Amino acid sequence: MRRITGTHVYSYVKCRHLASLDLYLSRADRREAMPWEEFAAKRGRDFEDEYVAGLSVVQPEYPERDFVAGQAATIELLRGGAELVHQAVLSSEDRLGLPDLLRKLDGPSEFGEHHYEVLDVKTSGKSRGDQILQVVFYTQLLAELQGRMPEHGALILKDGREERFLIADYVAACDQVVAELRRLRDEPESSRPFLQMACGGCYHDQRCLPELKARSDLSLVQGMSHGARAILEDVGCGTIEELAQFHPDSPRARGNLDATLLRRLRRAAQAHLAGRPVIEARPRSDKLDRSAIVHMITDAFQDRVLGFGMLHPATADGQFTFVLPRSAAAEWSAFRELTAGVPARSVLLHFGDGLRRWHEEHAFSREADPSVEARFVDLQKRLKGAATYPAPVILLSDFVKHGIGRDPLRAGHPGAAAMWMLEEHGDARLEAKLRTDLLDLAALKADILDAAASADVTDSRVADHQEAVKRPVAKKARPKSADAKAPVPKASVRKSPARKPSTGTAKTKAENGGSQAQA
Ligand code: SF4
Repeated sequence: MRRITGTHVYSYVKCRHLASLDLYLSRADRREAMPWEEFAAKRGRDFEDEYVAGLSVVQPEYPERDFVAGQAATIELLRGGAELVHQAVLSSEDRLGLPDLLRKLDGPSEFGEHHYEVLDVKTSGKSRGDQILQVVFYTQLLAELQGRMPEHGALILKDGREERFLIADYVAACDQVVAELRRLRDEPESSRPFLQMACGGCYHDQRCLPELKARSDLSLVQGMSHGARAILEDVGCGTIEELAQFHPDSPRARGNLDATLLRRLRRAAQAHLAGRPVIEARPRSDKLDRSAIVHMITDAFQDRVLGFGMLHPATADGQFTFVLPRSAAAEWSAFRELTAGVPARSVLLHFGDGLRRWHEEHAFSREADPSVEARFVDLQKRLKGAATYPAPVILLSDFVKHGIGRDPLRAGHPGAAAMWMLEEHGDARLEAKLRTDLLDLAALKADILDAAASADVTDSRVADHQEAVKRPVAKKARPKSADAKAPVPKASVRKSPARKPSTGTAKTKAENGGSQAQA
């Protein structure tokens, strides 16, 4: 019988099916980690090691994977009154926990006049529900061992802060997760994949995604929820093809699913089958003619902006500029320098709320011009409202793939950017990524937003799409544009038309404030 561990609790919160697969597959069944995923995992391990190295800890010693011996060694340390125990082994019949730290507190227990509480070291800046549940899971195992439930658990966050919480507040939730994990372990067939954001970085994606496609799963449709999928399947609408043609004649026949939601999902199923986005009618949309697109690539682990890029005007042949701040202190001046040349009345388009949040945080402590923030327009929200896409769209890569049919990762994965910075050609890779993302954003603006602003285009596209849906169902890939096949640009100048390869480039790095390539 596979034992339930803290990692399963963590996985379950992310995706129920992930926990299920982890409970019955071996590690060899997972896809190999990408180099940047390895890099991120190593950073997490190093962070924990560095944190623990500054403390006086003891660690149980036992033969590798012999958790019975590990628990015996742990109990010995706890009975002996060790102040801090690193990677204790806590186990019961079908559960196993290896918490980062156990800390000694006053108050009687099976171990004498003291007892312990659990601390887990995390690389995130804020606590999350899955991390808290993991600590509660370890605490319940500890309570069985020491005959006393500690009042608190704690997370040590990236900045060294300790966030304490009451165990009693989360015990019921943890019990529910453990009960569900037992069910998944005993009945693995009770779970199946659902396309979601977590799939992008999941080591089971190569197993789940083909499975979803093969069964034409409803979760491949934009806007689908677990609940809506269950209701639709209950009323006999189990595939995307069926959903695209689903016209129930009564609320009962549609499982009392909200009529507007059903119309939206049916439209999304039709877009999926047509293989391209359906532009929504937005006759009053402005065309955002006077605008620049500003984009940034960050290192979430370090809370740092690695590079800002800009395309001005916001068209494929706009001028591309970029700046790579060398430290957190240099970010603000780098951003201001980059955007200084954009006329004050121009809109600053960006994707997602990252840039706005970054600006808000910095503007608070600087003499920021409040009018800059008023010029921000989030392309993500606009793009989402302007079309129905052939698949769920959340990240920029989803919009690029399903909105304009390009490979969003042809210049690399944004999660790898921190790793590039340790490589010889890191700056060039970052520049290429900024440029490629900006060109994709300009294409999305042109193909989706500007088209949505034109009623004529809208009508013809919708008609075209409806015609496609009437035909026998056949998946069609949107023809790729020339850009989709274009190799990653190798070099850039600070100010150059974005599509034209530059010649005779010279790059000057600004040591105190950033690095820029200049013509
Ligand atoms: S690929 Fe997606 S559905 Fe499958 S286990 Fe991972 S997160 Fe869950």
